[in-house]
Parts: sequence; C-alpha cells; structure tokens
Amino acid sequence: MVNYKDLGLVNTREMFKRAINGGWAVPAFNFNNMEQLQAIIMASSETKSPVILQVSKGARNYANQTLLRYMAQGAVEYAKELGCEHPEIVLHLDHGDSFELCKSCVDFGFSSVMIDGSSLPYDENVALTAKVVEYAHKYDVTVEGELGVLAGVEDEVASEESHYTKPEEVIDFTSKTGVDSLAISIGTSHGAYKFKPEQCTRDPKTGRLVPPPLAFDVLDEVMVKLPGFPIVLHGSSSVPQEYVDIINSNGGKLPDAVGIPEEQLRKAAKSAVCKINIDSDSRLAFTAAVRRVFAEKPGEFDPRKYCGPAREEMVKMYKHKIINVLGSDNKLAQ
Ligand SMILES: [Zn+2]
Repeated sequence: MVNYKDLGLVNTREMFKRAINGGWAVPAFNFNNMEQLQAIIMASSETKSPVILQVSKGARNYANQTLLRYMAQGAVEYAKELGCEHPEIVLHLDHGDSFELCKSCVDFGFSSVMIDGSSLPYDENVALTAKVVEYAHKYDVTVEGELGVLAGVEDEVASEESHYTKPEEVIDFTSKTGVDSLAISIGTSHGAYKFKPEQCTRDPKTGRLVPPPLAFDVLDEVMVKLPGFPIVLHGSSSVPQEYVDIINSNGGKLPDAVGIPEEQLRKAAKSAVCKINIDSDSRLAFTAAVRRVFAEKPGEFDPRKYCGPAREEMVKMYKHKIINVLGSDNKLAQ
C-alpha cells in the first residue's frame, strides 16, 4: 500500500471547489511517456496551474503501473525544481472499468480514480460506483463517475453513438454513490475524429468541417439539479487544424479530423465544469513535430532530435490550453 500523500500528490477536492467558484477548469492531460510528462509539468509549473495527470488502462499496459507511479512522484519533485514551490498534481485513473482496477490504483498511490460504469444498466452503474467510492474514500482518494455515453474511440473505450446525460438521473446518482465529480455527455467525443462529416457543416471559405455545437441546455439542467457540483468533460480536444495540416503534408493521413471548438470549451470552463480532458491534441502535437523532423531531415536517427521538438510543441499546446482555454494559470492555492 502506497498512499498518494507520501508521493506529494493531492486529490481533486480543493482544486475543484476553487475552480467552480472562480469560473475556470483544471486541465486533465493524459500521459504515456517521459516527454509528455515533462511537457505537462513544464507547462503547468511555468503557468502556476494545478494539473491532473491522467493514466488510462492502455497507458498502464503500455508504460507499466509501477513506473508510472514513480514518474508521477518524480513529476512533483521536478515541478519544485522548476520553481513551483507548492505544486498541485493529481494522479488520476482515466476510465477505470472495474472495482479491482480502481482498488489497485488506490493501493498504488493514485490520488483520484474514475469508475466508468456508463455502459452498464443504470442500477449496476450505481452499485459499482458506490463500491469504488466506499473503498477510495477510506484513503481520501476522490472518485469521478459517469452518466451518459460519449461517442468515439479512446484506448479501449469505444462507442458508436453518444447518449446525452439524462438530467433527471443526476441527483439520484450522485446521492446514492457519493461520487466527488460527475462526467457527463453533452456532445463531446473521444479521439481525433469526433464527428462524422455528415454531422457537420462545411465552412464555405476554408472547406473545413464545422462540428455541431455542444448541448449546453443539458449542462444547464444538470447545474440546476446539482448546484455547485463538480462536472467533468471528456473528449475535449480541439484537434488543431494546423497540426492536422502538418501531419497530412508530411506523409500522414488524417482526413476530416475534427474536434471541439475552443470557444465552446472556454464557455464550459466558466460553468460548473471544473475538469476538462485533453489527450488527442497532445498526440497530434507530438506526431506533427516528429513528422516535420523526419520530412526535413531524413538522415536523423537520434530520438532526442525528434522527441525533443515534439516535447517543445506539446509544452506550447499545453500552455495555450491552460492560459487561453481553461483559465487555470496562477490558480495554485499558495
Ligand atoms: Zn474519456
């Protein structure tokens, strides 16, 4: 048993309270490797932002959970070295799909876990989520639950179509389970292909796809039912078209990749939405930078010479999200 407090990590409770009251959102960035983690810590330390390091089941399989825990512990020390005296870093399990997985993360030093029972019948989702909450709260680990289904593909999480969260269920769900935050479905989607072209309109000037707007009416109804309760948005990458263009013009093939416009996320961050998940944008920044190096310098074979530029590009992207989209810069408690 490793307690996250011994690793210098924090849970989400206090930062979510401040985020809701202050009208901003905490960034939740996924990481699978050292360069991503470095970029996240550089960006969040430099901007003095709290940050949630997300680990998916796929990341645990890819990078090994023991190594990931020590990387998160190292991240706390690294943030201090970068001049951030009191960093607020959460180590969070993204899309936990069983009690056993969530328990193992709590026991391994995670400070927050998500139990995603959204694909189960309602009563089973309630029962599973309540069981995880009961265990996690013994160790002061915070828990995120989910109601409603997001479309798209993220590691092992995939669904053909989305189902908006039913606002009439949220009071019953949160009171029966005791979750600390709730992920809802209002039209965001996992992956770099968030919408099919037929769901979008096309900008006549640029020919680019314009996605359908998020269902803010559903969010508003949820906020009326649960005043001041922390809400989470998954699948909130913007899929920056400049990265898609760099990838496509340097041998890649990402036709019609499209994400959530940043002005919609900015609006969400000002509401009770206090955690916004961004994964695909980091993958795109990384891939665009690597493809550019390979196209310009075909003789390059030192991974530092292409992972380094990838890291720089990710730092730029993360800082942009923190400062210009989520508004979490300069929001550390001390
Ligand atoms: Zn997700």
